[in-house]
Amino acid sequence: MDKFDVLKKYFGYSGFREGQEALIDGILSGRDVLGIMPTGAGKSICYQVPALLFPGITLVISPLISLMKDQVQALNQAGVHAAYINSSLSESQISKALRLAAAGQYKIIYVAPERLETYEFLSFAKGADISMLTVDEAHCISQWGQDFRPSYLKIVQFIGQLGRRPVISAFTATATETVKEDIVCVLGLQEPDVLVTGFDRKNLYFAVETPRKKDSYVINYIGEHVSESGIIYCATRKNVDALYEKLCAEGIQAARYHAGLTGEERKQNQEDFIYDTRPVMIATNAFGMGIDKSNVRYVIHYNMPQSLENYYQEAGRAGRDGGKAECILLYSAQDVMINRFLLDNKEQNGEYTAEETEAVRERDEERLKKMTYYCMTPHCLREYILRYFGEKGAAYCGNCLNCLREFVEEDVTETAMRILSCIREVRQRYGINVIAGMLAGDDRAKLREYGMFSYRSYGILKPMREVEIKQIINQMLVEGLLFVTNDKYAILKITERAEIMSENDERVILRKPKEEPKAEKGAAGKKASAGTRRSDILNSRGLELFEQLRDLRSAIAKEENMPPYIIFADKTLVDMCVRVPFDKKEMLKVTGVGENKFNRFGERFLSCIREYTGGVREKFYFGEE
Ligand code: ADP
Ligand code: ZN
Repeated sequence: MDKFDVLKKYFGYSGFREGQEALIDGILSGRDVLGIMPTGAGKSICYQVPALLFPGITLVISPLISLMKDQVQALNQAGVHAAYINSSLSESQISKALRLAAAGQYKIIYVAPERLETYEFLSFAKGADISMLTVDEAHCISQWGQDFRPSYLKIVQFIGQLGRRPVISAFTATATETVKEDIVCVLGLQEPDVLVTGFDRKNLYFAVETPRKKDSYVINYIGEHVSESGIIYCATRKNVDALYEKLCAEGIQAARYHAGLTGEERKQNQEDFIYDTRPVMIATNAFGMGIDKSNVRYVIHYNMPQSLENYYQEAGRAGRDGGKAECILLYSAQDVMINRFLLDNKEQNGEYTAEETEAVRERDEERLKKMTYYCMTPHCLREYILRYFGEKGAAYCGNCLNCLREFVEEDVTETAMRILSCIREVRQRYGINVIAGMLAGDDRAKLREYGMFSYRSYGILKPMREVEIKQIINQMLVEGLLFVTNDKYAILKITERAEIMSENDERVILRKPKEEPKAEKGAAGKKASAGTRRSDILNSRGLELFEQLRDLRSAIAKEENMPPYIIFADKTLVDMCVRVPFDKKEMLKVTGVGENKFNRFGERFLSCIREYTGGVREKFYFGEE
């Protein structure tokens, strides 16, 4: 067997995705590798395929219990002998697993890093034939990363205690340059092949919406996406509870998740979501780590998160199966206040000195600011994200709201100049509210108290409204003509670029979205982007067949006590509707159907298809091929 046979036989795929093959080749030739690939890119395949080709065992270090369970379930379904060893097992279960492992029962064993230093595990490992050690979520080893786990440092010691050094492969979705160096250095990778694939997730559609009523927006959205699975993230537990009640009152099958629920409730709700019994999850950011549900079709952020790091990670839980999915952020100016409040009340890490605390606070402010600009930019959202993460994207992606909607452009350079001279006049000492209020000539007490009435700029932009002025200031912030200080005063300052604006004849263009006619709201944009939505691929007969296959999958999932997506992904069911296989040979051509899965479930799906079609091949999809 070679890597292609393994890929087809166990995983049912007929080709590798970007980056996978290079990493697999590196590993198979005995080199250490580091793969940095975004969520959903398919990191697991990169070590699972070589694991099946190596003579010995592959140990996978993973930080999350739920993730291990999911992976092991999926592997077992695919006919791979795998097991996990972590604190969710009892002592006697662990001993038993290790006994079986020592007897060569498992090709792949997932372990938590803490386990590595236990006597029992170590003595197993010393006596075993270990071909490869894989470090998943490798950024956890770096103190500079977001979720440093001291227990990851034990990996190095562990490797040193093995009789023979195995191949070491490490994977992560997020690594800055420093974290990358840390991984290589701390893990002691030897001349590793380092492969970084782009962070772009082409199947994700991005949008920032500013609906007046977020609740109604969400309810409408879910109504238009019935029978699809999605996550709605809220900033606080209170928001989660309130929205949850509203959705339930609307008869929506929703579940909720936050740190205020009991462990039992959380577990149950999470399971209901994973098993698609309640396909909509409303949650705080406590939810999602280690959730590997591949058919999440949308992630809506009810509130703006604190940073793009958080946003991209949470939004990235959509569309892991590679199918079209939507990431929508519902923005309101209030979100900035909520987040600042959360920052102010963030639990301080006791180990930090006052200076470090200050530095962290400044970093957080900076991140929040960049997040806010994302919500305000009239340009391509994907390009904004990629640039933030240090990559270059095209100025037009064609699959985000800003690329798809029409804008009216207005040259506001004159007004911008006035704003600049106002800020200069007050010697750059105030924030956006005071400046905008002052320019609009507002006579609130605060402005009087500050003595604003006596400045030349006072009321100079009348009769413009304060909100309109703020819009232009925001635009200037996004364009880098102004910045706000990273403290709680958030004072508006002028950048160097603004100082030389007139020399360069730079214009400030305000792009305002053209009002869409009510009835078509959102539809126009989505049509263009929805090339691979199920309903765009399959015709009505095809969708009906899809429903039947899905029901069958649910039934099997119940029998097997497995999440449905582990049986077959949605994409696989769609491909069955397109190919309409009548026998084993045809069924094996369907993406995601491997030898083993066919043997377990293939016949049942075949007979479902035969029954629906009466054995007559129909065309269930639009388009040529
Ligand atoms: P990551 O760990 O990088 O977030 P996963 O390993 O969970 O991503 O893979 C994401 C999804 O992509 C899974 O459903 C997986 O089965 C699928 N996948 C991975 N590689 C391929 C491939 N070569 N062809 C088709 N699907 C793939
Ligand atoms: Zn775009």
